[in-house]
Amino acid sequence: MNIKNNINNFFQTLPPHCKLIAVSKTQPVEKIEEAYQAGQRRFGENKVQELVPKYEALPKDIEWHMIGHLQSNKVKYIAPFVHWIHGVDSEKLLTEINKQALKAGRTISCLLQIHIAKEETKFGFSREEALAFIGSNTLPESKNVNVKGLMGMATFTENAEQVRNEFRSLKNLFNEIKTLSLPANVQMEQLSMGMSGDYQIAIDEGSTMIRVGSAIFGERHKP
Ligand SMILES: *Cc1c(COP(=O)(O)O)cnc(C)c1O
Repeated sequence: MNIKNNINNFFQTLPPHCKLIAVSKTQPVEKIEEAYQAGQRRFGENKVQELVPKYEALPKDIEWHMIGHLQSNKVKYIAPFVHWIHGVDSEKLLTEINKQALKAGRTISCLLQIHIAKEETKFGFSREEALAFIGSNTLPESKNVNVKGLMGMATFTENAEQVRNEFRSLKNLFNEIKTLSLPANVQMEQLSMGMSGDYQIAIDEGSTMIRVGSAIFGERHKP
């Protein structure tokens, strides 16, 4: 894999409203540095114990995205530096992010994860749960959190039409939420959807953040 070429290809072909999150989980620091030298500044990790040492070792102008399932008891380790948390899937987690962001004197951008796939294993709010959560008092009281949009993962399948329909359902929910009267710290601006196998479909369906790992770095190293 030529990481620099891969990054440059994305830079040349991505529509201007869509950001590339380079998913560097399981990749060594040297590989991240290669992507950094090609100009990439947004990186995504899914494990706190991997994210913290990488943050410490790498340049401080990197924008770190926590993309995986996050346990509330681990938020405190990343709250001092993380920019985006994509997988907010419960009130408990959001409340803890707010608490730790306040302690760190920061505001953290969050995306609500919506369950759009057929697989049971993927995390996230249902449409109804998300609407109820957005209407609750939790968000306006969580002043150190900015909810900037939604995140979703499509079913792992060869069926492109199914993937497209799932992304479309996420975009529809995003548009629906936009029409509501929202707390000051909730804006529907970002739609995080699309990975190495399905980012093209996600871009067609309105993604503003694609999370791409293996198409940049090659196969993942065993954790
Ligand atoms: C690993 C991961 C990705 C990237 O997967 P690739 O198929 O390697 O591009 C994207 N999003 C999440 C949440 C991930 O855990």
